[in-house]
Amino acid sequence: MKAYNITLIQGDGTGPEVIEATRRVLEATGINFHWDLAYAGASAQQKFGTPTPQDLFESIRTNKVALKGPVTTPVGSGFRSVNVALRKELDLYACIRPCKIYPGVSTQFKDVDIVVVRENTEDLYSGIEFEKGKPETEKLRELVSQTKGEAIRDDSGISLKVISEAGSRRIVRFAFEYARVNQRRKVTAVHKANIMKFSDGLFLATAREVARDYPDIEFGDVIVDALCMQLVRTHSRFDVLVLPNLYGDIISDLCAGLVGGLGITPGANIGYDMAVFEAIHGSAPKYAGQNKVNPIAMMLSGVMMLRHLGETTIADKVEKAIAEVIAEGKNVTYDLMLHVADAKPVGTSQVADAVIKKLES
Ligand code: NAD
Repeated sequence: MKAYNITLIQGDGTGPEVIEATRRVLEATGINFHWDLAYAGASAQQKFGTPTPQDLFESIRTNKVALKGPVTTPVGSGFRSVNVALRKELDLYACIRPCKIYPGVSTQFKDVDIVVVRENTEDLYSGIEFEKGKPETEKLRELVSQTKGEAIRDDSGISLKVISEAGSRRIVRFAFEYARVNQRRKVTAVHKANIMKFSDGLFLATAREVARDYPDIEFGDVIVDALCMQLVRTHSRFDVLVLPNLYGDIISDLCAGLVGGLGITPGANIGYDMAVFEAIHGSAPKYAGQNKVNPIAMMLSGVMMLRHLGETTIADKVEKAIAEVIAEGKNVTYDLMLHVADAKPVGTSQVADAVIKKLES
């Protein structure tokens, strides 16, 4: 049988627990995986003195596919986000986050089935920032004052929102291609072009241009604040959403909320020839080592990985097993039992046991 070399990044916080649960489920399919262990974040900092060692990038460049647990990013200080570094360094420009309701999940919403396609490398996540009081910040203030006649307060920190035509074109094209391959009916571009005419405006104009190449798929656009309201009230009008980086980050959490929470929402970061699969949730450090958090988001990211590898039949089988475990509601973690009287949640590893049992039955 074919064997796959996969880079395995456990992450930190609850990362190692959800990764272990997912690895066990993937191995129970009978597929042969060679896991190439790589380190990122705090664990890499301890081992190699950097949160993003060269070995990490080399491993993913070689294997082309990685399964990654969440990594803690210190707020405001310490090292920069490992996730942002990975996406930029490997040019993983498309982030896909499918958000759909599995029967049995307790949510006030019905029939949500939305795919968020987030641009992953530009926008306010470009990492170009100017710290308050630094000489380069002064220079930028002067430039803005001279060229735009606008005064920026001298105690300001500045982060640049960078949106390019090429970056917009490839992400919108990705969204349409995804829609075509996955038989989706509509792509909606999300923006705030009424206010940010040269960044979001460029994104929208490019999206409209790309849409002309896909007459078989409906196209629409919506302003991001209106989208938030409409997602909660009339989500059925949306199918595939394509968004610049920051809106994509926020809206995918909103969509995760519609379908039952972070514990069941998977994700993938895709580039031209590499892909990193990871849940959208973070490292939930307060629950680390407690065998408590939900591994299903990570497992469903593993299902996306199987599809990416071309193992569609086995991917369907694993997704069905997970869906059955959710529907039965007996072997699920605390987050899926929030509204259940006399709830008796199980732990992370017991969810893996239940899914494996389904696979073997
Ligand atoms: P988080 O997603 O880690 O946790 C927020 C809350 O959501 C948790 O306290 C928990 O109540 C719930 N939750 C999250 N995952 C869950 C799961 N699998 N099962 C059940 N409940 C779950 O978000 P945060 O607290 O904002 O971030 C913690 C750290 O993770 C930060 O350092 C952040 O930068 C990092 N982060 C990493 C990634 C990544 O590696 N891809 C993504 C997001 C956040």
